Amino acid sequence: MENRKNIKGSRREFLRVSALGVAGSLAAQGLSAFRGAHPASAEYSIPGILTGKHKRAGIALIGLGNYSANQLAPALQETKIAYLAGMVTGTMDNEKLWAEKYNIPKKNIYNYDNFDEIATNRDIDIVYVVLPNSMHKEFTIRAANAGKHVICEKPMALNAQECVEMIAACRENGVGLSIGYRLHYEPHTQEVMRLGQEKVFGNVLHISCGAAWRATTFEGWRWDREMGGGAMMDMGVYPLQAARYVTGEEPVSVTAQTFITRPGRYEGVDEATTFQLEFPGGTVASLDTGFHASFDHLYAFAEKGWFELRPFSSYRSISGRTSREELNFPQINQQAVQMDEDAENFMAGLPVRVPGEEGLRDMIVVDAVYESIRTGRSVRLRR
Ligand code: NAD
Repeated sequence: MENRKNIKGSRREFLRVSALGVAGSLAAQGLSAFRGAHPASAEYSIPGILTGKHKRAGIALIGLGNYSANQLAPALQETKIAYLAGMVTGTMDNEKLWAEKYNIPKKNIYNYDNFDEIATNRDIDIVYVVLPNSMHKEFTIRAANAGKHVICEKPMALNAQECVEMIAACRENGVGLSIGYRLHYEPHTQEVMRLGQEKVFGNVLHISCGAAWRATTFEGWRWDREMGGGAMMDMGVYPLQAARYVTGEEPVSVTAQTFITRPGRYEGVDEATTFQLEFPGGTVASLDTGFHASFDHLYAFAEKGWFELRPFSSYRSISGRTSREELNFPQINQQAVQMDEDAENFMAGLPVRVPGEEGLRDMIVVDAVYESIRTGRSVRLRR
């Protein structure tokens, strides 16, 4: 490991968000922590844009890169409620390929410039934003202004302030907003939420969790800070999520460090980041992420036992055990279940499982992680 590295640029958004009273307002709404496997997040009153009881919900994907091509589009061939109705792309190659492969009519294909015309397209109910992180805010707000429900990929945006603006835009337009945290729909993950939050093994004392992959190429938006690159933004939200959903609490303090193991490859983005969270109930979480090594594990040590998932964040084959037994839950297509459930709730005007506020809570902590790296100090979060 080389030297500890200060990330350039200020991450003061948490302070700005706190000043706006957003964190306080979340707490006042009873939204200060994720509760249970399906949170009763009654923050939306969605009029819905249903045109018929049995209509399937048309999804348009924006951003036809790796995740859309290899996970979401194939999953949309297995969904029962949602279906792949349209797409937004910047390249003619993609347009031709996708239109043929998925039988998408020309009238449902948009580019980044004419995207707003989607407002009049009755085939499209939901826009799924699968773009580089720096583009999430713009396209979520444009989709909301077009009257479409939105699923936005993780991390929700560049910082907490952007999340606040996205939530406000969806509220003002009366559309739903869901964040693409697919693990919330996954049975093993739901079980560790229950074990932790219901204190099945007593209070959780320590959480050790990490999600990382070893990069072999160093090009593209993940290596560009302005575009929302960096390991914390890419994979760091998974251990952060895990600590929050195992405890069901929001952290009160954040300390973080970052390291560069391959100098010259990481100009301005974090490569190997480690962060520690302190929770009000006494749990301490020691969390890791990075582009320097491959790991994927969640371990929680509690007063009367332990539980773990290994891997805990992969698309398939999530597996786990407790100090008493193996966890044997069905393997599901996470993305298919996620999109079907979101579509069902959007169309029925019901709250979604992972609303925008959940993405905001993460970004408040991510902002604090970068603040701690920059200052070399712990950041206390006001709740
Ligand atoms: P990608 O680089 O493979 O695809 C990005 C897409 O955005 C491409 O279609 C590209 O053409 C388009 N794009 C438009 N303008 C661009 C610009 N200025 N620069 C670069 N690309 C531009 O990325 P990806 O891996 O598909 O990730 C997209 C989003 O999905 C990210 O927010 C990422 O965090 C998220 N993601 C989530 C999961 C998950 O498990 N939930 C997994 C992978 C990625």
